[in-house]
Amino acid sequence: MKIELIAVGNEVVYGHTVNTNASYMASEFEKYGLEVCYQGAIRDREEDINQALEIAKKRVDMIILCGGLGPTKDDLTKEAVAKYFGLELELNKEAYEEIERFFIKLQKPMLDTNYKQALLPVGSKLIPNYNGTAPGCYFEINSVGVALFPGPPRELRPMFEYFINEFIIEKLDTICLTEEVRLLGIGESFIAEEIDDLLGCFEAKQVEVAPYLGEGFVSIRLKGYGQSKEDILHNINFYKIQIQNRLKSFIIGDTKKVAEELVYDLLIKHSLSITTAESCTGGLLASRIVNVSGASEIFQEAFVTYSNASKIKTLGVKKETLEKYGAVSEQTAQEMAIGAQKKSGSDVAISITGIAGPTGASETKPIGLIYIGIALKENIYSYKINLYGTRYEIRSLSTAYALQYLARLLQNL
Ligand code: ATP
Ligand code: MG
Repeated sequence: MKIELIAVGNEVVYGHTVNTNASYMASEFEKYGLEVCYQGAIRDREEDINQALEIAKKRVDMIILCGGLGPTKDDLTKEAVAKYFGLELELNKEAYEEIERFFIKLQKPMLDTNYKQALLPVGSKLIPNYNGTAPGCYFEINSVGVALFPGPPRELRPMFEYFINEFIIEKLDTICLTEEVRLLGIGESFIAEEIDDLLGCFEAKQVEVAPYLGEGFVSIRLKGYGQSKEDILHNINFYKIQIQNRLKSFIIGDTKKVAEELVYDLLIKHSLSITTAESCTGGLLASRIVNVSGASEIFQEAFVTYSNASKIKTLGVKKETLEKYGAVSEQTAQEMAIGAQKKSGSDVAISITGIAGPTGASETKPIGLIYIGIALKENIYSYKINLYGTRYEIRSLSTAYALQYLARLLQNL
């Protein structure tokens, strides 16, 4: 089944709103093995909607539109779509009752314009909206499925789930599975060189293999299609095993988890506690650890030691180390980690010190030079990385690297 996603809204086209609905829906579809072939964004204009539908109906089996279902005058998606397909709008009783209930819950009077929202194209099925007033709907016409959703993500997401369960699952004939091989410490061009013959679209086995840049790692994604799960996995494995063999020393697993979840799970598994000692990241690393619900089981306190004085006072970094090697050095990163581990009594301490830029670089220490220290029980490790980007990108990426390096160490325990 080929699918096209169309976001309707001036704010999306003009760049004020990021089209997160598209990335959400496309990745959800992918989970069910369904392929989104086209994505677009168009303005709230009838002629633009007509043109988009004219193109879409010829090239896909399912058109999903989001945005412009609200009660205001600029919201015209439903009217335009119905008109394009020659469908009248009629009152949907269930939708009307939903809207009524929504206003009772809000303790606000229902307006005439909300009545307009309960009108749906003839023959369409309701996709109820429990978080707003704009109901969605689904209809099929001339063998094309058309679904309409409101723009706000918190309304769209539960509705989209309902849509998949009610109308899509029964149509699935082929399935698609995705596997990942994550790699650390290797660039995309080097990967291309090592496994060039294993990258691409392999029609005979119905497998696609492509690298993509993750946060602090590179991932090889293997996507397989077919009728049975076993066959697909068999075909995927044909490529996966060869990739794993050739890139063995860089592999950090086949997980799809974000770095902090991975670290959290590994710390729990080994009953280890963690603390952080940060300079240029100013608490970002600690914040990522706290992203995981349940973080208190492994994380008690963190240190942000930005100045040299603070590194000495709080973490016991030696003055001589700072004078001899500088604050951005392997030695300082290691002493920060050791100091944080001692002070907190945690099993693991992870430190970051670096030059986030845009100022502060020297000849020997360029912008993006980062040292990561990891004290793991009685062992100490350190890593040097060179990053590119804005100040925030460098700070953010160095936290991702730190978590990935830690994950790799914990995996090998
Ligand atoms: P409402 O009843 O809230 O007006 P609507 O269906 O008319 O719903 P829009 O007016 O198009 O939706 O968008 C409402 C808000 O939803 C936007 O201001 C924006 O914040 C968010 N939004 C719209 N489209 C998208 C999108 N494609 N991705 C992410 N957010 C979106
Ligand atoms: Mg609106």
